[in-house]
Amino acid sequence: MVLNQLYDKALNLVPLTVEEGVFLNNSAPIEELMFVASRLRQIHVPGNNVGWMIDRNVNITNICFSQCSFCNFCRKKGAPDSYVTTTEDYINKIEEMFALGGDQLLLQGGMNPDLGLSFYTDLFKELKNRYPALKLHALGPPEIVYLARKEKTTYSDILTRLLDAGLDSLPGAGAEILSERVRKIVSPAKATVEEWLGVMREAHRLNLPTSATMMYGHLETPKERIEHLVKLRDLQAEKPKNNYGFIAFIPWPFQDKGTRLREEEGVRSSYSGPGYIRMVALSRIMLCNITNIQASILTVGKEIGMLSLHAGANDLGSIMIEENVVSAAGSNNRFIANELQSIILEAGFIPYRRNQKYEPHH
Ligand code: SF4
Repeated sequence: MVLNQLYDKALNLVPLTVEEGVFLNNSAPIEELMFVASRLRQIHVPGNNVGWMIDRNVNITNICFSQCSFCNFCRKKGAPDSYVTTTEDYINKIEEMFALGGDQLLLQGGMNPDLGLSFYTDLFKELKNRYPALKLHALGPPEIVYLARKEKTTYSDILTRLLDAGLDSLPGAGAEILSERVRKIVSPAKATVEEWLGVMREAHRLNLPTSATMMYGHLETPKERIEHLVKLRDLQAEKPKNNYGFIAFIPWPFQDKGTRLREEEGVRSSYSGPGYIRMVALSRIMLCNITNIQASILTVGKEIGMLSLHAGANDLGSIMIEENVVSAAGSNNRFIANELQSIILEAGFIPYRRNQKYEPHH
């Protein structure tokens, strides 16, 4: 394979094969990947705007039967520090968030065996009744799979009922690496690759805005990372024309501190700054049909976040008022709105406050 031919192919938005992606990963100089990815960024998102937003992560519950080995946020039912967030807590957190200028909750949580569909639909309805301007970016494919199984119904039915109750968009949570080999080791009780993709297929059909993610740097091979990207790209190609599909892709590295994967299996995060830049650039190059690539500044920090903007990323995500899963595993990056905008300016771009659909925030 010849690198220049692959760059030309990518710049013409021709999908690269897994083998070509692996070849780029293993052989392309990082500065060339950054150059090609930056040009592709200009094709997908012309100009110098870099997106950011304010939202608040609230965990619905930390009780989760899944017990993924990279997660030290989850608790078993009955654990002394287990919880289900109360309505009063939501109200306090939402009021604080509105005071800080945010209008969206990212609702994530464990898969708590005591909580069925009606718990979520009642919660969403109650929050929307109290706060009609509130946006709910909530749950993720594993929870939808779990609820469909629990309620003995289809993904489409679960998603439709959540939409009717006030769900605005579906995060691409729980993708980790879309490889059965890896999932069997790190998250055997969670949605399979086909289930994860199956939920997203239905969400795209229902025109629910979604995002896609990848948590890498643990047990996966470089080929499995590229295969993950190709699976997302193939699913995006299936979405009904004019529907949202995956609006953005967000890669982040495994944070190992205190996780069972590290403590019991000895798996350390393979994260490095240059490795992240390469991952962002390859994401932009491989994902020729996903418009926005977001760098996870909360996990990689300011300098690598800034460099990512020169490697194909056009977004730095949210200042994220709370983020318990990542912070529980050792990420201490915190940014306030002014800081995040300064970082974007310092990197040579223009801050652009957006909503979950990547439209201007009003
Ligand atoms: S990562 Fe999510 S699904 Fe896995 S144990 Fe933690 S809360 Fe549960």
